[in-house]
Amino acid sequence: MNEENVNTTLILGAGPAGMAAAMELHTAGTRVHVIEKDTQVGGLAKTLTFKEDVGVFRTDIGPHRFYSKNPYLYKFIENLLQEKWQKVPRLTRFFIGGTFYHYPIRLGDVLKKIGLWNACRILWDYLCERTRKYVHPRTVHSFEDYVVSTFGRTLAEFNMLNYTEKIWGIPCNQISIDWAVQRIGNLSVVATIKKMFIKRGGPKSLVDTFYYPSEGTGLIYEAIKEKLLTGNQQLSLESEPVTIEHVNGAVTQVTIRTPQGAKLIRPAYVVNSIPLTRCIQLFSPTPPEHVIRAAQSLRFRSQVYLFLTVNKPSITTDNWIYFPDKDIPFGRISEMRNFSSHMCPNGMTSLFVEFFCFKGDTIWNASKEELFEMSIDTFEKIHFFTRQDVLNIHLLKKEHVYPIYDLHYAKHVQTVLEWTDSFSNFYTIGRPGRFRYTNQDHSLEMGIHAAACILNKQKWQDTFGKEDEYLEQGHIPETTTNETSTPPQKDRGPVATSSGSGRRDSDR
Ligand SMILES: Cc1cc2nc3c(=O)[nH]c(=O)nc-3n(C[C@H](O)[C@H](O)[C@H](O)COP(=O)(O)OP(=O)(O)OC[C@H]3O[C@@H](n4cnc5c(N)ncnc54)[C@H](O)[C@@H]3O)c2cc1C
Repeated sequence: MNEENVNTTLILGAGPAGMAAAMELHTAGTRVHVIEKDTQVGGLAKTLTFKEDVGVFRTDIGPHRFYSKNPYLYKFIENLLQEKWQKVPRLTRFFIGGTFYHYPIRLGDVLKKIGLWNACRILWDYLCERTRKYVHPRTVHSFEDYVVSTFGRTLAEFNMLNYTEKIWGIPCNQISIDWAVQRIGNLSVVATIKKMFIKRGGPKSLVDTFYYPSEGTGLIYEAIKEKLLTGNQQLSLESEPVTIEHVNGAVTQVTIRTPQGAKLIRPAYVVNSIPLTRCIQLFSPTPPEHVIRAAQSLRFRSQVYLFLTVNKPSITTDNWIYFPDKDIPFGRISEMRNFSSHMCPNGMTSLFVEFFCFKGDTIWNASKEELFEMSIDTFEKIHFFTRQDVLNIHLLKKEHVYPIYDLHYAKHVQTVLEWTDSFSNFYTIGRPGRFRYTNQDHSLEMGIHAAACILNKQKWQDTFGKEDEYLEQGHIPETTTNETSTPPQKDRGPVATSSGSGRRDSDR
């Protein structure tokens, strides 16, 4: 077996968290070795390229809108991408019962479309819940309890419960309240109504625009890869850890399977960003029984995707659209051309279609033709495109997409993390690595923080992705490359400041 015995930080997983850690450690002049099982870097935030007869199509794995209030992150990315880091106007909607509604919700839009009777029902339910809070408060155990007691049942059923069940594949009364607190925060109906009457204009908020790399979100991680390789750092693709050996609370050696054979590495530090559930299985000696049992109780929700290349200049003006209705098999679509015109050849567009599933179920096992047949009627009915417009169908699958926040997940995660965090030279970070529903910004922050812990011999502070504020209400820190990218073909018109919610919505 090949042996590597240098003062290296071994980084497991080349998603945003792992790549941010690698970049910071590289910039500080230390050695890193990144191990990634995929053929490319970027994890869930990679960008795929498809070369077809008509030209090159690119897609992310679903819509990737970057947002953060942390100026360090904007600088971090701007240094990597310069003018390829562009501001993009945002338009997102949801489609319920045959009607498109703006998202975040614009109250005027909803009231106009749902009609007086439904509007009165929403108001009545909401007032009943408000009164109940003072007279006989509900006991709030689950996501369902939380949204019903906050918004009333009619509004909760309108656009929250259906979609949430579609994502998670379990009933909303089995989903942890943490999910509601993290995603909905202190959003209130009163605040939403107030915003309707506040004068529009002023600085752009995180609702109106977002930053996006001109050739897909994966460009950030490809740029880090280039820096690492030109700096003679090591990156092993199509490779994975097989065992993580430890003695007296420190990792001593890690065996890696690479296309060239097994390799033994004795790293100074290990930064893990592969799924916590997998990483726990690699430790030798094995973790205590209660830690193994806790890890076995954690589950990830998976996704399969269709990427359709389409012989049409445009399908929608939206970045993405949610489809909460249960009779529609997919949950969200995105049109990558509306993120950047570099994502498609001229005169062509594409559609990325997301299905939620568990590994091994009917959707997971369906062929691309079967998934296409399940979906094409909806696309034709809403006049997106016809089957004749579709050039090619590509099928993708991802197993570890959503850490499932069921009613008991928090205590299991705590048990596992208490054990992994007790190692003196091992950091577990990122969305799969901490079993925490984070977006790119928090994964990047975790990677940057892990690097700081290593460089400054600091203790890990576990605060990332835990805040319950409305991030969309803030303003984007200005960078020097804040040109708004040219809107693709159609004139998309002014994108008004939404009077709707401020929840973190992209990845759900
Ligand atoms: C549909 C969708 C939409 C999203 N929308 C947004 C958005 O709008 N904005 C936003 O900021 N974020 C969004 N996200 C979330 C974003 O993609 C993730 O937060 C981010 O990629 C997490 O980074 P990470 O490094 O923590 O984990 P990951 O990206 O999951 O990276 C983990 C890496 O570890 C590798 N790995 C796994 N197992 C092994 C193994 N055994 N050996 C070696 N390597 C392994 C994986 O291949 C992967 O590269 C979205 C995600 C999805 C799926």
